[in-house]
Amino acid sequence: MTQPIDLRSDTVTRPTAAMRAAMASAEVGDDVYGEDPTVRALEQAVAARLGKAAGLLVPSGTMSNQIAIWLHTQPGDDVIVPAGAHVMEFESGAAAALSGVQFRALGPGDGTMTVAEVNEVLNLSDPYRPLSRLLVIENSHNRAGGRIVPQTTIEGLAALARQHQLRFHLDGARLMNVHVKTGIPLDQLARPFDTISICLSKGLGAPVGSVLVGSAEAIARARRRRKMLGGGMRQAGVIAAAGLYALEHHIDRLAEDHRRARELALQLAGIRGIEIDVAKVDTNIVLIHLTQACPHDINLVIEVARQRGVLISAINSRCLRLVTHLDIRDADVERGSAVLTQIFHS
Ligand SMILES: *Cc1c(COP(=O)(O)O)cnc(C)c1O
Repeated sequence: MTQPIDLRSDTVTRPTAAMRAAMASAEVGDDVYGEDPTVRALEQAVAARLGKAAGLLVPSGTMSNQIAIWLHTQPGDDVIVPAGAHVMEFESGAAAALSGVQFRALGPGDGTMTVAEVNEVLNLSDPYRPLSRLLVIENSHNRAGGRIVPQTTIEGLAALARQHQLRFHLDGARLMNVHVKTGIPLDQLARPFDTISICLSKGLGAPVGSVLVGSAEAIARARRRRKMLGGGMRQAGVIAAAGLYALEHHIDRLAEDHRRARELALQLAGIRGIEIDVAKVDTNIVLIHLTQACPHDINLVIEVARQRGVLISAINSRCLRLVTHLDIRDADVERGSAVLTQIFHS
């Protein structure tokens, strides 16, 4: 059987032969003893690219974000996030369970929130209300369809954070996509933030891992927290080697994913019963909204597409999500859009 065209997520990529070769030949040691040279090299490489002092390899983006939230807060605090934020919606309630904090979601759901909106809810001293201690931005914003958060929005929030001594964390699971799309240097994208989490296992195509970066002091505390959560890994150089390979070879090619996502959106945009805002396909994610007039059941669309060799997912009962990545070629875009066109026209 031929491999299905898997557009569910950019997490589904498998390591390439060259990446596997790099993993196989990685020098390793016990990283919990701080003795894995490849892990150290990866942590330093990511920190350097993002212009921060130190980095920490962790098993997942969820662990990375949750360590950051724990670093910056006290139980009972309010964490201010843009509506739809991954840290609030898709991390199993970890922030409440592990750090004892609550979320306040702002903005229209496109990944932005304004200084005025934050000011409106900010509490720095009222004992009746939770204390505001941390702002989080997610760039690109997954739930909004890989939208890029304008750097001016981020700079404004950073100034507010400085003014009130709030911490500022970036969930940069797909920050490399933002970097490639905008051409803004990574250290400039990272500068407004105290900590940044990036994923190696999304568009970068590594099998496992995220890296949290920040000050030496923050990362030293994060290292202890990682161990406490069971995230200390021993000969993790095998994993880190994939990350180092990805930093060298898989960043610039993200432009291809963006081009293909746009191509998918353009191919599908004219179909009756669905809406795609092509102008909002900033990076590698396409959202397909089913209009009221659409006669198709979303789960049936997903199932029929699966039977025809195309895997897609839904983010709610009226919205499908397609994601391009390392394993999606031009021919897959052609075939994927042909299959979906057929289904929507039937
Ligand atoms: C994927 C993702 C994460 C982390 O996911 P893991 O599956 O835990 O690695 C965090 N934030 C965003 C925006 C993501 O898309």
